[in-house]
Amino acid sequence: MTTRSRRIQLRDNLDRTREAIAAACADAGRPADSVRLIAVTKTFPAADAAALVELGQADLGENRDQEAAPKAAELAAAGLEPVWHFVGQLQRNKARSVAAYADWVHSVDRAPLANALGNAALAHGRNLNALIQVSLDGDTARGGVPVTGLEALAEAVTAAPALTLKGVMAVAPLGWDPAKAFALLTECSATAQRVDPGATEVSAGMSGDYRAAVLAGATMVRLGRNVLGEREPMA
Ligand SMILES: *Cc1c(COP(=O)(O)O)cnc(C)c1O
Repeated sequence: MTTRSRRIQLRDNLDRTREAIAAACADAGRPADSVRLIAVTKTFPAADAAALVELGQADLGENRDQEAAPKAAELAAAGLEPVWHFVGQLQRNKARSVAAYADWVHSVDRAPLANALGNAALAHGRNLNALIQVSLDGDTARGGVPVTGLEALAEAVTAAPALTLKGVMAVAPLGWDPAKAFALLTECSATAQRVDPGATEVSAGMSGDYRAAVLAGATMVRLGRNVLGEREPMA
């Protein structure tokens, strides 16, 4: 259940966020529809996710399968089928679950994971859009393949069954100037497009740095707090 006041709050947040993205696009000399907003609903209840879909927000993101799978099931049971984007670090043993509901996986960062996702998608009779997460500073603890491993992984994703290489994703490393981070990601995008010319998507930008991401050419921004509000600290 979503209260009326929560629904109004989500609508206002969504409107404000869309306007801010459009303004960033205008500043970058890009059409407003060149950036896709993904509302990251992690830690928020399925009712919020449902309200967003009803407000016309088709793309939703989650970062943990344990939370995303039941949320996706709850929305599906209510007849709501958003485009689900899985954006978090992913263990191979979760591939089967994620491939059942996700349309996009933004965090493909190693060949065995690509193969597991591809085989799982195939088993489900589905196709997954894959983005390769790049670790821009080479510290892979937060997920991502080092820049030097990108090309080989792009080849592996292209070779995997039921996966379509769509582009690259990154999180700006802590302490980095976002503009510098996203400029490097643009170079990574060129590498991915040399492997597959269709891999043109660039998933970059969170609530704190999406303007810099749009200026650098992001085609997808992943926003949680801007749309849903501050999250409770994780236990
Ligand atoms: C949580 C999360 C986001 C959204 O972060 P906000 O700061 O709430 O906008 C984006 N991308 C990933 C990978 C995340 O885990």
